[in-house]
Amino acid sequence: MLTKTKIYLSSPHMGGSERKFVADAFDSNWVAPLGPNVDGFENDIKKYLGDEKEVAVLSSGTAAIHLALQLLNVSTGDEVLCQSFTFSASANPILYQGATPIFIDSESDTWNMSPELLEIAIKDRIEKNKKPKAIIGVHLYGMPYKANEINAIATKYEIPVIEDSAEAFGSTYLNKACGTLSDMGILSFNGNKIITTSGGGALIVRNKVLKDKTVFYSTQARDNAPHYEHSSVGYNYRMSNVLAGIGRGQMEVLDDRVKARRANYNFYKANLSKFKNIQFLEEPEGCFSNRWITCIKTDSYNLRERIRLALLGDDVESRPLWKPMHMQPVFKDCLHFTNGTSEELFEKGLCLPSGSNLSQEDLNRILNMILKTLKYDT
Ligand SMILES: *Cc1c(COP(=O)(O)O)cnc(C)c1O
Repeated sequence: MLTKTKIYLSSPHMGGSERKFVADAFDSNWVAPLGPNVDGFENDIKKYLGDEKEVAVLSSGTAAIHLALQLLNVSTGDEVLCQSFTFSASANPILYQGATPIFIDSESDTWNMSPELLEIAIKDRIEKNKKPKAIIGVHLYGMPYKANEINAIATKYEIPVIEDSAEAFGSTYLNKACGTLSDMGILSFNGNKIITTSGGGALIVRNKVLKDKTVFYSTQARDNAPHYEHSSVGYNYRMSNVLAGIGRGQMEVLDDRVKARRANYNFYKANLSKFKNIQFLEEPEGCFSNRWITCIKTDSYNLRERIRLALLGDDVESRPLWKPMHMQPVFKDCLHFTNGTSEELFEKGLCLPSGSNLSQEDLNRILNMILKTLKYDT
């Protein structure tokens, strides 16, 4: 008997030329956090994003958020507004800086930061003489947040926006690339993201001065001197030239990966949307999602769990949607502005396997398992 292989939620998917770029790094001995692949990868990303921005590649998306906060001078005692419905890496760097996160709930049509609650929170904090230092919005699961509305509020109160685009490389909002919509953007190339360098990230900034600052802080903040001279605290956050080689190969296939992930979404939706207890996240007008992960919202915790456990029994990985930050023990004392949206999504929502390397056979296997579960429910 053939044993079935495990199906993962989102696994790495190499394109083919990654090995060549990595071999180049070895052959030229650029086995260091600088070199031709680092420059080449940055150029590829910059071109892909439309050439208006500058890009610095780093060791992770988390490092990119940390440096963004650093560049915005967020420090001890400051407050930062952050989307509550996200992965903890969006918010942890706020704590690294000694600042305090305040969490903002989502709206129901994008599952991202509610502009309405954002403004309520800003007004509240200003009233208490605690004007927030920054806003972190997240394009969760690849779906763009409503950047026009968020930016308008941010501009009105003069608060900079960090755009967490870790899950949304390849997504666009009003035909503009996610990652370029606000003051600063970040990308992640972790193993589970739409393209990967095994681990890595990027900070997207407005100009060369900010890029140079990012590189400065990410390489231990060395002042210009023959010896090691330091007048600020630095970090070891630059991307390795070996890993940037993987990134250059992955950039060649990014558009294919977006197509494949969108096809996964369409497959699940075509086969499951007839069930009234299963809902999909549609693209609001102007939003183009890379569909990094296909998510469903069921009508109950019980149904969600039955689907998840049925898949698990067949060695198929699925996972509840992100547990909101305002519900996390580590952030339990943080102020939050909520409306119930993210709590309900956490209770009833499920991430389905969404890798760009899933075969039709894999997809059928997943679908049949879900259909079997639903049969006993309707
Ligand atoms: C993956 C992810 C990050 C962090 O990126 P790393 O490269 O893993 O450090 C940040 N925010 C979100 C929303 C993510 O999904």
